[in-house]
Amino acid sequence: MSHTPLPTSTLPSYLQADKLGPWGIYLQQIDRVEPYLGHLARWVDTLRRPKRALIVDVPIQLDNGTIHHFEGYRVQHNTSRGPGKGGVRFHQDVTLSEVMALAAWMSVKNAAVNVPYGGAKGGIRVDPKTLSMGELERMTRRYTSEIGIIIGPTKDIPAPDVNTNEQIMAWMMDTYSMNEGATATGVVTGKPVDLGGSLGRRDATGRGVFTVGVEAAQRIGLDVASARIAVQGFGNVGGVAGRLFAEAGARVVAVQDHGGAIFREAGLDVPALLVHVGKAGSVAGFAHAEAIARDAFWDVDCDILIPAALEQQITETNASRIKAKMIIEGANGPTTPAADDILHERNILVLPDVIANAGGVTVSYFEWVQDFSSYFWSEDEINARLVRIMKEAFAAIWQVAQDNKVSLRTATFIVACKRILHARELRGLYP
Ligand code: NAD
Repeated sequence: MSHTPLPTSTLPSYLQADKLGPWGIYLQQIDRVEPYLGHLARWVDTLRRPKRALIVDVPIQLDNGTIHHFEGYRVQHNTSRGPGKGGVRFHQDVTLSEVMALAAWMSVKNAAVNVPYGGAKGGIRVDPKTLSMGELERMTRRYTSEIGIIIGPTKDIPAPDVNTNEQIMAWMMDTYSMNEGATATGVVTGKPVDLGGSLGRRDATGRGVFTVGVEAAQRIGLDVASARIAVQGFGNVGGVAGRLFAEAGARVVAVQDHGGAIFREAGLDVPALLVHVGKAGSVAGFAHAEAIARDAFWDVDCDILIPAALEQQITETNASRIKAKMIIEGANGPTTPAADDILHERNILVLPDVIANAGGVTVSYFEWVQDFSSYFWSEDEINARLVRIMKEAFAAIWQVAQDNKVSLRTATFIVACKRILHARELRGLYP
């Protein structure tokens, strides 16, 4: 009996949607890396589909007595190298395809720094600023219960992302533990230090941004101590990266966030700005700086630009205005592929998110290891290990970029995707 050959597998419709959104951008990045995968290209479609995507209804009673339903997600993109790992985002614009892309970038990032994780991400479509503390806690706990069927210390380990923090991780850990009947500190990372969190985790992503920034600056002959820095987003990532660059002597000349943008040619007083943001919630209204239009931020004369807010901020409409010599992607997916091409033509070096912001997950890995052994390391030890991993990973990626004459983004994808697909090949298909 002769068999009719199966047609080449095509992507399910929900994976094809949103071509210009983050998932579409991720698919283009996989297209770019495919020619460099050698015999592993046989497995490449693994990267074009999330392993598992869960949509959950999150009903809670609001303080006014009404019942409100939120939409939540948890996506495990790939678990070939270990349990899923990636943050949880609370934002009014969260969509399934955005979470799929963020999960996929976690697979790449975790492989790029060679921590033994796959990639995952979660989120709730909500503006948490509209909730009371009680509502926020109830929503977090119900969401954790709903995704409890797929998370766990050896299955999938959430962490903070935009608008989620140590308190939310504490509620997630407690909810999961109550459901399991045993305290499971290793189910989330980014917890408070008094609850199994790691010293150094709060600053880890910004420290990683700073570390790879210094490494790259040395290679292109840029003096960090006299550099002018512009930062978009002054939260966990942008605030810490800005502080570390300022401590190294650089001038942070401009900051933009959701509330406004500020500028000071002589350099902003970063510690004072951090205090202001802590109280006011935004850089807007900071007394010791000139307020500028939010869009004027992209025209600021600077040497290093750090996008550390959200996706798709550097686009074909503003990429030609950027004056920086180097861009360090603190945020996930801040540069569109069209903008990437413009920046490449203009000889502006882009340190891609998948290596530049990997410091957070690296220290999350340390936290998880410490939780399993119930033995905790000093902050100096953590920072030293973090810096070593970031430097080594960056050096290997730089070499691949030089050898193949490709961008650092493609080089990072080459290193990471080969690791993921090699693991896939070794494990084989079951059953
Ligand atoms: P955060 O909530 O602490 O801060 C977010 C910042 O972005 C705030 O300053 C906010 O004002 C600003 N922002 C929000 N919307 C904006 C807009 N439309 N325009 C300009 N600014 C805007 O979040 P975070 O943890 O610092 O995360 C920032 C980015 O870094 C995200 O892309 C996140 O996925 C990524 N990231 C975070 C970590 C981590 O450890 N926190 C790790 C890796 C990557």
